[in-house]
Amino acid sequence: MAKYVYFFGAGKAEGNASMKDLLGGKGAGLAEMTNAGLPVPPGFTISTVACNEYYNNNQSLPPGLWDEVKTALKQLEQTSDKGFGSTANPLLVSVRSGAKFSMPGMMDTVLNLGLNKETLQGLAKLTGNDRFAYDAYRRFIQMFGRIVLGVEGHEFDSKLEAYKEKVHAKLDTDLTAAHLKEIGEQFEKVVADKTGAPFPSDPMQQLEMAVKAVFGSWFGKRAIDYRRINKIPDDLGTAVNIVTMVFGNMGQDSGTGVAFTRNPATGEPELYGEYLQNAQGEDVVAGVRTPKKIAQLKEEMPEIYQQFKKVAESLERHYKDVQDLEFTIERGKLWMLQTRSAKRTGLAAIRVAVDMVNESLIDRKTAIMRVEPQQLDQLLHPVIDPEAKSKAVKEDRNLAKGLPASPGAATGQVVFDADEAEKLGHSGKQVILVRVETSPEDFHGMVAAQAILTARGGMTSHAAVVARGMGKCCVAGCEELRIDYIKKQFQVRDQVIKEGDYITLDGSTGEVFEGQLPIVDSEVVQVTKGRMKGGESMLYTYFAQLLAWGDEVRRLKVRTNADTPHDSAVARGFGAEGIGLCRTEHMFFEGDRIDSVREMIAFAGDFKSFETQLNMAKAEFAKSHSSAIGENIKKLEEQIKLPKDRYFNALSNLLPMQREDFVGIFRAMNGLPVTIRTLDPPLHEFLPHTKEEITALAQKLNVDAKSLIEKVESLRESNPMLGHRGCRLGIVYPEITEMQARAIFEAAAQVMGEGIEVHPEVMIPLVGITKELELQSDVVHRVAKEVMDKSGKKIDYLVGTMIEIPRAALTAGDIAKEAQFFSFGTNDLTQTTFGFSRDDSGKFLPYYVEHKILRDDPFQVLDQTGVGRLVELAVKEGRATRPDLKVGICGEHGGDPTTIHFCDRVGLNYVSCSPYRVPIARLAAAQAALEKSSGYTTA
Ligand code: PEP
Ligand code: MG
Repeated sequence: MAKYVYFFGAGKAEGNASMKDLLGGKGAGLAEMTNAGLPVPPGFTISTVACNEYYNNNQSLPPGLWDEVKTALKQLEQTSDKGFGSTANPLLVSVRSGAKFSMPGMMDTVLNLGLNKETLQGLAKLTGNDRFAYDAYRRFIQMFGRIVLGVEGHEFDSKLEAYKEKVHAKLDTDLTAAHLKEIGEQFEKVVADKTGAPFPSDPMQQLEMAVKAVFGSWFGKRAIDYRRINKIPDDLGTAVNIVTMVFGNMGQDSGTGVAFTRNPATGEPELYGEYLQNAQGEDVVAGVRTPKKIAQLKEEMPEIYQQFKKVAESLERHYKDVQDLEFTIERGKLWMLQTRSAKRTGLAAIRVAVDMVNESLIDRKTAIMRVEPQQLDQLLHPVIDPEAKSKAVKEDRNLAKGLPASPGAATGQVVFDADEAEKLGHSGKQVILVRVETSPEDFHGMVAAQAILTARGGMTSHAAVVARGMGKCCVAGCEELRIDYIKKQFQVRDQVIKEGDYITLDGSTGEVFEGQLPIVDSEVVQVTKGRMKGGESMLYTYFAQLLAWGDEVRRLKVRTNADTPHDSAVARGFGAEGIGLCRTEHMFFEGDRIDSVREMIAFAGDFKSFETQLNMAKAEFAKSHSSAIGENIKKLEEQIKLPKDRYFNALSNLLPMQREDFVGIFRAMNGLPVTIRTLDPPLHEFLPHTKEEITALAQKLNVDAKSLIEKVESLRESNPMLGHRGCRLGIVYPEITEMQARAIFEAAAQVMGEGIEVHPEVMIPLVGITKELELQSDVVHRVAKEVMDKSGKKIDYLVGTMIEIPRAALTAGDIAKEAQFFSFGTNDLTQTTFGFSRDDSGKFLPYYVEHKILRDDPFQVLDQTGVGRLVELAVKEGRATRPDLKVGICGEHGGDPTTIHFCDRVGLNYVSCSPYRVPIARLAAAQAALEKSSGYTTA
């Protein structure tokens, strides 16, 4: 028989911290705390297995489960010395969800379960507090009604508000026991009216319904959305924790709160959190009232504070990680309700990891594994331009100040509704979602917004927790805001901000500004760009330290995709160890060189066609010596003159410009290898498309407009991505490859003359046939020799190929005879392996991911099953031919942590990604190496 239920209480638990899969994070934490002798209210956990079986079983509880629950309840009654359903001494429980990975606020919880008209009397007598008991009962009906019975929340809220008005009560606390009793009766009636059945009074029935509702919330929309964004599998299921209720709302000596053992936004080592006096459970998390700082507890309940501090410290030491704690104080007694690894910002993650190594709490390897590579992105997030900010302050444009709930800066138009935020966000608008407070129902709007601003709620409110998780800027608890959802505006003092108006948020300070302020580079980026010294930025110091530790263990090199000296320098600042892809075509658009490029294209075709005819005629003439053919040769020689002159003229204009590009890049990379790819895109991409533009170009080039229009037309392709591009261009027009090779080697020789080391790697794109590579390599080697002979410099260069066509991967063993290196162009390799157009797949891939036809967008995360197999095969067969074959990846996937793990596993030499992803790749590569060597996992 399967065991579904795990008891904890009186210092002993059946579970422990390592049983997260089975008990969920919360259940495992409660068990571990119980075993550690901490004050935890007794209870039991129904395992995630039961949840999965519930779904496999057509949403009915698995056989045997309820018997186990009954046994556990008996044990709970004994441990707590109370009776479930007892009118004299009632046991009340909370029923709380808890999956393996924390999903804050995404699933359901019911408190005060076990109350009915009779047990309510017991509770009143026991506590000597009628008001408390009636309040607990009306809260229970409200929560149970909404979560378990599906009654809309506003049905209760409007009754409550109307009642308060009737009895002139301003706050909930103004309501008396008699009032609350009557409200409870009204709530019962709401339930009866809305569900057609009386409110269930049997505690056992309540329990069963609540357990099913918690199971049900695993497949609620909120939970599904959250899992999709955070890539949490659907088949984990949630556990259900049934825990003896403790009450934080039993007077001024009671309270409830949440706290972190270190600051989750900055990583500062300080107990950080909030609490509310005389409040129950979810009040803090829901952000309904703005709570007090935990430091104040020191003043108000010094003994409890000291006890809590000790518990917090011991939990952090025990778990060797920052803990996120929930606690309740019931009439001066502390109870721990939860401990879990805290969600934190990228900055906090890095600081905590480095600090904990320095405190000898964890080792360097653990520190490296602790930080999610993607989180580094947050340190590279922009901030409000400091000058513009101080100017705005002087001009009194700072509207308000809230809590710095999640760092970063953002500017956008105000919206007050999550659906609207989603709609505008998807249409490309930058919006800031402004709410009194957010709730899980707003999640989709928060995803679409640039930032979130709330009027109520603390650092641990829903808005704050979710925004930090997403690395999104958030200012919470901005109390000066008077938000009016009906008028769609908010007011601060006498200033009114309407929907659509711009505001700017600083999530690191909590400031809110009117209008659009310029957003600029973060400190880390400024140091990287040499605009600030490393030592001046604490942020940079932590960042650099963690990455340096990672560099010590990683095997994979990290290069960058960069096309300009500026990008190359930035990437070097981030630690790039070379250029893995320099796309030369981007240079063709720079300044006025596009004119030369267009001239080259305009005459290349005619030149080729005359050249072919001429060669044929000459061959025939050699055989026949016919005078007619001789005449034709003369004519053709005349005809080829113009296109030839113009074509070569354009190429010779381009040569010095290209050479300068490479000189700049070689200087910036100062001795590191630089992979330069020859021209790749179809030629028509460089040409104008409208009739007017082409006519204007014809004038500029001094050619006939009609024939230019025809030329542009003839270059148009039905499938440009599969058309005349890549090496196919260089094969038909070897003069272009020659010009580019000359520019590369002349630049190399020039820079070597300046005393700078250079290692150019010339890369031929889109090869599928070994002969293609041979033809292009021949050109490159010939030019290299010419330049070396002329300059007297020996250039250390390689000629290799991209592997981005399935045929290239399948024949890699043969291609490696010619290629001195491989670089996987996984963008094209994904396109051609799936047969998904890179340009059009946006129309259906989101649907595929949403419906789980694919786990991830294969253009972002490498498809290891299919495309990855081709990569593995090509590495293996390539190296069989040429054991020292250098292999890298330069598609978009080169900066994706999951793909980087794969690249490490299959033995690539390096990954190459855009400059801003270099730090992410460095850390991911370090994690991959650690995972392989010591069985660490990133999960
Ligand atoms: C690729 O195909 O992966 C690649 C890097 O080249 P591009 O994106 O320029 O086609
Ligand atoms: Mg490509």
